[in-house]
Amino acid sequence: MKMNKNDFIHTLCKEAEKQRIILTDDMLEKFEIYKNLLIEWNEKINLTAITDDYEIIMKHFIDCLECVKYIDKSVKNIIDVGTGAGFPGIVLAIYFPNIEFTLLDALNKRLIFLQDVVEKLSLKNIILIHGRAEEVVRINNLYEKYDVAVSRAVAQLPVLLEYISPYVKVSGKFIVMKGDSVEDEIKLSINAMNILNLKIINKYFYSYTVENEEYKRSILEIQKTKETPTKYPRNYGKIKKKPL
Ligand code: SAM
Repeated sequence: MKMNKNDFIHTLCKEAEKQRIILTDDMLEKFEIYKNLLIEWNEKINLTAITDDYEIIMKHFIDCLECVKYIDKSVKNIIDVGTGAGFPGIVLAIYFPNIEFTLLDALNKRLIFLQDVVEKLSLKNIILIHGRAEEVVRINNLYEKYDVAVSRAVAQLPVLLEYISPYVKVSGKFIVMKGDSVEDEIKLSINAMNILNLKIINKYFYSYTVENEEYKRSILEIQKTKETPTKYPRNYGKIKKKPL
């Protein structure tokens, strides 16, 4: 359903309130511009399969906003690994203007879109990096530079943990957005958690409904307890062939 600006803003505001998230007028305006850019650019490059206004509100914005409950306002910086069209990175950067966000993705076309979003929304708290997570950490020397790493829909948990662990400071944490089969992924990740010095500190479950269909989602809060052994991350070939 195509919504006019007021309807879009009103609906987003109400749906966020239902999840106990309060958005300011400035944030709501920014989300509306972001949605328009997403739809416009999606006609030229593949950014998202979700193009209906209400579905964008629920499956992208509300879904990603769920993370704000688990992020302390006092953190200095956050990296979003495999941000794609900016989920959850842009959503969180709108919500937390005082936290510095690094948005990383392997596909340059998506970074070009994100550059336009950053400019049109006048976001001052975003750094964009093009490259593969397992390479950028060495090339850009980003070892243990971040308080928090976030990620949605990028890889199976053991692979994702190897990608993101090196970026996070000791005692820092990961906010990993997953679906309802998260328990299976956790079982597959026991070895990766041990090797990479990680521990799950919380699991959260939430859901939202679109056209009578309930979407069950989860968020894992994972803490890094010690430094990542220097041999990680391995190169992509090894990670893919032999996940931890
Ligand atoms: N996080 C976004 C979301 O939830 O809409 C995008 C999800 S999309 C399915 C996965 C994204 O991760 C793609 O944009 C892809 O380019 C990126 N990606 C996958 N592996 C990556 C890696 N090793 N390093 C950087 N980006 C990666």
